Amino acid sequence: MALRWSRMCWLPRCVLSARIRTVPTSRCLGLQRTLTSAPHPLQICIVGSGPAGFYTAQHLLKHHSQTMVDIYEKLPVPFGLVRFGVAPDHPEVKSYGAEDKQKLGIPGEDLPGVYSARDFVGWYNGLPDNRHLSPDLSTETAVILGQGNVALDIARILLSPLDLLKKTDITQAALNALSQSRIKRVLLVGRRGPLQVAFTIKELREMTNLAGIQPINCPSDYQGLGDIIKDLPRPRKRLTELLIKSALKKHGENEVVQRTQSNREWGLRFLRSPLAVLPSEDGKRAAGIRLSITRLEGNGETAVAVSTGEVEDLSCGLIVSSIGYRSIPISPRVPFLQKSGTIPNSMGRVQGVPGLYCSGWVKRGPTGVIATTMTDSFDTAQSLLEDIKSGTLSCSNPRPGASTVRELLLLRGVQPVSFSDWEKIDAVETARGIEVGKPREKILDPEEMLELIFRGHTTRQL
Ligand code: NAP
Repeated sequence: MALRWSRMCWLPRCVLSARIRTVPTSRCLGLQRTLTSAPHPLQICIVGSGPAGFYTAQHLLKHHSQTMVDIYEKLPVPFGLVRFGVAPDHPEVKSYGAEDKQKLGIPGEDLPGVYSARDFVGWYNGLPDNRHLSPDLSTETAVILGQGNVALDIARILLSPLDLLKKTDITQAALNALSQSRIKRVLLVGRRGPLQVAFTIKELREMTNLAGIQPINCPSDYQGLGDIIKDLPRPRKRLTELLIKSALKKHGENEVVQRTQSNREWGLRFLRSPLAVLPSEDGKRAAGIRLSITRLEGNGETAVAVSTGEVEDLSCGLIVSSIGYRSIPISPRVPFLQKSGTIPNSMGRVQGVPGLYCSGWVKRGPTGVIATTMTDSFDTAQSLLEDIKSGTLSCSNPRPGASTVRELLLLRGVQPVSFSDWEKIDAVETARGIEVGKPREKILDPEEMLELIFRGHTTRQL
């Protein structure tokens, strides 16, 4: 994290654009540096200031001495889902992102009480679009659909002791809601089996080590796995061993003290695929989920869940669908594969659009952690540099670059927010965090951010 942040000072110019109508158009683009030693520096525009954007910029700036990079971001604050996606109690991970959510495509999905993981995570992380989500936590049982790391993140946030969360940059609104939460049980439902869970061992271990939280798994789900795991690849083997150990752990074992502090539980439900959200009697909100009981065809990672025809209903007042993220198309002129939510590309070179490159989840799909995104972004930057070297990408003519973009933004009434403007927001958020013993207290309302930047004050709304 520290490394990535310090790399930002390599950026000759970082522009974050935001929409504002009332500010004079002369106040824009705080940081600019002109490169003098070459007539036509390589001018690169990066859309999106998440980790993929920054890592791509880093590689280009490091390996091409005459480069100018402009990073554009629709919000007045940078870092994308590093700021808005990663769990607040994982400051060391701060990593992943994509704009949209996968739909479940089942009846009742839009009932109150059902949330997408993207919105739920955005809510506790202070994403402006999700600041009014206000999820109802007055139920005893929460069901999370999906068994990936995002599902575990959400389960952990729902069950963590408040004292732990208070020290993170989770929003005050989320802390207030969690302090009133009546949730006692969180179930993570997967359509496949224990050998196909998508989360990783570190996140599982954190969950099993959470103070006072009891596992409520079904030991029978793990029967017969002992014979299989010895032949599994090492990461899956270790993960499955921990799963079995935690599933067979007796209630209260080694946790006499913790049991007195909390009576909260979590569990994994396997071979269950969501069929429908069940409404409450008055039909006004979610009261349960109907699951199709499945069996597996095939083995290992590629096994497919098929319905047995049986169903099971689970009562629950909160349902979070955590079945993956999706990228969205950037423009009708950029090809996009709807099914995978990716841009068709070859090593980051967008097919059929010379001069355009992609990296991150829009390049490879919504999988992988920070290290994956870093490598992937370096590969894209390397493709671009190779294309310059081979002459496939011509840089011989001067390009207007950022000045044209700025003119266009101003014509559209968009007042750009510069990197130094963001630093003002950062300073205020950090100072507010110190007041309450947190790393930062995020500002949730973009209008308040803009007030702070352009008028020097804020309307405080926590
Ligand atoms: P994910 O790892 O792809 O997991 C998605 C889960 O949803 C899987 O259990 C999947 O089951 C299930 N699913 C997908 N479609 C479904 C459907 N139609 N019906 C029922 N279940 C369905 O996605 P994620 O949890 O959103 O994470 C995205 C990426 O970010 C992952 O690479 C993850 O490791 C990473 N991440 C990392 C961290 C960290 O490092 N701490 C934290 C959060 C996220 P199937 O396997 O059967 O498809």
